[in-house]
Amino acid sequence: MSTQIPYATLILRWYDRHQRILPWRAKTGTIPNPYYVLLSEIMLQQTQVATVIPYFNKFIENFPTLNDLAEASLEKVMAMWTGLGYYSRARNLHRCAQEIAQQGGMIPNDYHALKALPGIGDYTASAILSIGYNQPYVAVDGNVERVTARLFAIQEPLPAVKPTLMSLAKILNAGQEAQVRAGDFAQALFDIGATICKPKHPLCLICPLSEVCKACQENIADILPIRQKKTAKPTKYGISLFIQNEKGQILLCKRPEKGVLAGTMELPSTLWSEQFTSLEQALNEIGCHGNFKESGQIKHVFTHFTLKVKLFKLENNLKLLEKTQDNIWIDLNKLSQYPCSSLMKKMIAYMTTISSEDLK
Ligand code: SF4
Repeated sequence: MSTQIPYATLILRWYDRHQRILPWRAKTGTIPNPYYVLLSEIMLQQTQVATVIPYFNKFIENFPTLNDLAEASLEKVMAMWTGLGYYSRARNLHRCAQEIAQQGGMIPNDYHALKALPGIGDYTASAILSIGYNQPYVAVDGNVERVTARLFAIQEPLPAVKPTLMSLAKILNAGQEAQVRAGDFAQALFDIGATICKPKHPLCLICPLSEVCKACQENIADILPIRQKKTAKPTKYGISLFIQNEKGQILLCKRPEKGVLAGTMELPSTLWSEQFTSLEQALNEIGCHGNFKESGQIKHVFTHFTLKVKLFKLENNLKLLEKTQDNIWIDLNKLSQYPCSSLMKKMIAYMTTISSEDLK
């Protein structure tokens, strides 16, 4: 190491000059709002900052406090979450707000109490404690993993090396300066990972850590962290029906409360399986009869699988069987009031002249 300056000093000095301005982040010298931290951290799970910002602002406008969120209907919360993906986060967030409200409304400042809440795991609890309450917890997200792997030139592949990276991140966090400014330190690591130590082209020339970074010195930053090769994603297949009545309304139904896109509204659809079923089988499974015409196919990539859906449009002679009679007819211009996933908006846009942007 060619400098005696501790990691934390370098990191915090950089943060004081270059931190990102984010709507959930407290300005220097002001007290953070733990509700903003909780909300943003749940939204940021698997989601980019730029995508989260408008959703965060919309939530704060509609639910300025945790109690407002707890008192809102789940339908309203789900509708506002529409487009952000991973919908179980929205239901857990709502349940979490309700549990906190029942306990008096203060977001816990204790690790075990936080972990007991719906949707809060180790990372989110650590982030809330460090950013929201300035407690010396280490929140290790993908950014921090990358910075740590490069700083210490760790060449074992992810995900097996995660515990090692977690221990090394704790070493970074161990000095007094990092402990005293725990919230700033956690956010500084996020910011360095997001803006300097980028996945593909790390900007080592302007990095505050370049003099102490082993990967930079060994010129291997670009290839770290190493990831175990992924196995190919499986493909699943389904059939969805576009059914419109004489008023132009479309028929939607609710997905099950558990699993992919839980609780969102969708076109009447089959389960997604290993191969396409016939239209006849699909109609029996969905619970309706009528004359349908094949109208195209949509491909959608989820984290763990690729989905191909054949779309069929009703021509005439619709008969809904008992199991589809709870479905609802919705005006296309009111679709934004319902929790529809990006996948569903893509399908509806495909079947109409409306762009999926207009359905947001
Ligand atoms: S010097 Fe380069 S590789 Fe090392 S932490 Fe900074 S940006 Fe990342």
